[in-house]
Amino acid sequence: DGGYDVEAIRRDFPILGDLIYLDNAATSFSPEPVIAAMVEFEHRYRANVGRGIHRLTGIASQRYWHAHEKVADFIGGKDGVVVFTRNTTESVNMVAQGLPWKAGDRVITTILEHHSNLLPWRRLARQGVTTEIVGIGPDYQPDLAALERAVTENTRLVALTQASNVLGVVTPIREIAKICHDHGALLLVDGAQAVPHMPVNTEDLGCDFYCFSGHKMSGPTGTGVLWMKEACIEPAMLGGGMIETVTADGYTLSPGYQQYEAGTPNIAGGIGLGAAVSYLQAIGMERIHRYEAGLTDRLIAALSKNNRIHVYAPPDPARRIGVVSFTVDGFHPHEVALQLDEAADIMVRSGHHCCQPLVESLGLPEGTVRASLAYYNTRQEIDLLVATLDEITR
Ligand code: PMP
Repeated sequence: DGGYDVEAIRRDFPILGDLIYLDNAATSFSPEPVIAAMVEFEHRYRANVGRGIHRLTGIASQRYWHAHEKVADFIGGKDGVVVFTRNTTESVNMVAQGLPWKAGDRVITTILEHHSNLLPWRRLARQGVTTEIVGIGPDYQPDLAALERAVTENTRLVALTQASNVLGVVTPIREIAKICHDHGALLLVDGAQAVPHMPVNTEDLGCDFYCFSGHKMSGPTGTGVLWMKEACIEPAMLGGGMIETVTADGYTLSPGYQQYEAGTPNIAGGIGLGAAVSYLQAIGMERIHRYEAGLTDRLIAALSKNNRIHVYAPPDPARRIGVVSFTVDGFHPHEVALQLDEAADIMVRSGHHCCQPLVESLGLPEGTVRASLAYYNTRQEIDLLVATLDEITR
């Protein structure tokens, strides 16, 4: 992509300095306009939202509401409800706690899942809800035949990730949505690793719930999103800011997202998240996707040349994101990560990546080393990672 000016983008990220940050799947960096939007709130119009009628609350409420609109537009979800949460974990838990379960209901999920898209379902066992885990094939794709067999008439919900934070594999959500809807099951998608890297359209995907983290897409920490096709869950919390009327013995909930955001929200964070959406849209998610795919292919090809490195990457370049796991013969993953930091200022993640069942099933109980890319990384950084690993394994 000749027009992709990564150096201009990098000027918006003073934190990059001389560091090589390849841990973007854990959390990402925010560009200056995102930080500026939060500072502007503090400097100029800090006030509570959805309460009162004075000038400052008017501005704050309008901007906070508008941030929800921007997020809805970003994920093609204008007809649904965008709720601001703290992170993906909170979004998934809100659905797990908010649906009206009954004993005998089933949830189907996959071995690819992050603990955050597994434990909330497992806990429903207390209510007599069982969870079944579908495996993956040699291409790391969920076994669709097994998934289809698992979805029975008692299946209330299928919960799976759109992109794995360990293997980088992108799953076929549209096909899975069809299976779900043919059997009357709801579909929840964990988009934590998809949204930062590719265009996402929830309505095209055909899911009922879509969860992701603002902080992994250049938004502030403490921000996340729950998108729902319909406001069909019970709010987990009750209190101020989420009701239309309260009488001595009852209440009616506000329509829309407000009913799910009880209490004073993370206003600066929400506004910062809106600014992150604008920043990403200005570059373009298609372009980001293409640019990162180039870096990913380069990284996988280069790592694969070193016979002491084992790469766990999906074979189909069209079905992966820039999350690359590998192990190095004779080194614990943590040792590799420490050496990369000490020898070359390179930050990568090591360990089980909150996916213990997955790494166990891959026969890698110590986990992997994971390099995860963002739209501000460069070829030179990839090449330096590879050169340093070649050095370590020499
Ligand atoms: N799901 C996936 C696929 C993830 O990568 C992560 C973060 N590593 C999460 C869920 C949890 O995100 P958060 O910590 O922001 O709740």
